[in-house]
Amino acid sequence: MSTELIPSLVSKLRTTFAEGTTRPLSWRKQQLKQLKTMLETEQAAFLEALKLDLHKCEQEAWTSEIGFVISDIDHSLRHLASWTKPRKVATPMFVQPGKSYLQPEPLGTVLIIGAWNYPVQLVLAPFVAAIAAGNCAVIKPSELSSHTAALLAKLIPRYLDSNAIEVVVGAVAETTALLAQRFDHILYTGGETVGKIVMRAAAEYLTPVTLELGGKCPCIVDRNTNLEVTAARIVWSKWMNAGQTCVAPDYVLVEEDFVADFVASLKSKITEFYGTDVKQSPDYGRIVNERHFARLSSYLLDQNVVLGGQCDPDTKYIEPTVVLAPDLQSPVMQEEIFGPILLIVPLRSITEAPAFINARPKPLALYVYSHDSAVAQHMVSHTSAGNVGINDGMMFMANPNLPFGGVGNSGMGAYHGQTGFDTFSHLKTVLKRHFIFDVALRYPPFSRSKLQWLKRLM
Ligand code: NAD
Repeated sequence: MSTELIPSLVSKLRTTFAEGTTRPLSWRKQQLKQLKTMLETEQAAFLEALKLDLHKCEQEAWTSEIGFVISDIDHSLRHLASWTKPRKVATPMFVQPGKSYLQPEPLGTVLIIGAWNYPVQLVLAPFVAAIAAGNCAVIKPSELSSHTAALLAKLIPRYLDSNAIEVVVGAVAETTALLAQRFDHILYTGGETVGKIVMRAAAEYLTPVTLELGGKCPCIVDRNTNLEVTAARIVWSKWMNAGQTCVAPDYVLVEEDFVADFVASLKSKITEFYGTDVKQSPDYGRIVNERHFARLSSYLLDQNVVLGGQCDPDTKYIEPTVVLAPDLQSPVMQEEIFGPILLIVPLRSITEAPAFINARPKPLALYVYSHDSAVAQHMVSHTSAGNVGINDGMMFMANPNLPFGGVGNSGMGAYHGQTGFDTFSHLKTVLKRHFIFDVALRYPPFSRSKLQWLKRLM
């Protein structure tokens, strides 16, 4: 799309919003149903695009992308009427008689900028929330997952209201042109550097932002755990989408004399899930592009690779790889991996884990595996993270009642379920009073006795 068209495109959406088209519940529900129809009817095309972009297998494409968004739509449709209702809050005695409530209202025209690793989920899940809340929306999918981006741009206008919803495909120039426009909210998913660009651009219009960023997600494995299930869940959550998941475990903290047992369990689960030659597995993904392949394979230079390590530039394949005791100053330990390499950092005692984690930027997700609830709770209470999984990897994403978002460097704001609806709404406060009982205490002329009464009442 030519960047010159972007101002008029945004202006069209602003006009639609001003006309009130997107406010009625009937419009919101119809758009959500149409989106569901699109995902169901065009499922084969989405599966193909995801295969071309990331070699995503059907089960992962369904559970983490297409089915994920459909279940999000169903949840929103089920709860939309109650989310949009005024939310009553208590009214203190000195404001009686009166009623206090929060009235959700749509923000206006919002911008959703997505990342490439879950190219359907990361634009459509926020989009579901934006539409449920009654906004107009511009979706900007990542150019790195180009097949999915092109498909969204082709299908969305066919199924949804083009006066209120637009898809802009493109890269830096298009995103820059979009960011030069006034929006009423921006939800950005991606890396920290561009997150800062988005926030700077938003500041120009005082536009609120939700930043869904990343970082290194730690995983603590206590020796007192169910090793079989722990290994299965770590392998599943680490090597899904070839490790290109913002909430995948990045490094695992384990006690030194437990490392051998832990590595053996990982090895056996990798073989059980993907076979002895992972490259032949239809269930294992590929790296999105050459740049990321080069970045990831360079991480392995001079490292103690204890599992995997095979890299094939022609097919952008990197084997599930485990690195033991990396130099803490090396790039693999300094940067977010965002690929199929798992680090093991041995500790003398698991009690050292919180200090290790707290010495680094706040993660998007933190995992603890332990039979001992007190140990798990200790780790949760003594660290900070956007989201925590105790005894499982990233399953919190599957609960729409849990907000999803980062803290500190891993992001700000959250969405999913009602939190998403609220993110794209303004919760307008309303106090409704009656004309009766117009007590004169607050009105001039003031007196000592009026003040004394007020001190008692407030
Ligand atoms: P990316 O390269 O797809 O970029 C994200 C978006 O920013 C794209 O739409 C792109 O067009 C736009 N963009 C890129 N450069 C820009 C620029 N200079 N100006 C304006 N816009 C620009 O994705 P990425 O940054 O490689 O994403 C990976 C990061 O995202 C990782 O850190 C990962 O952890 C994080 N992530 C977070 C979540 C989450 O939900 N918190 C989900 C997925 C990924």
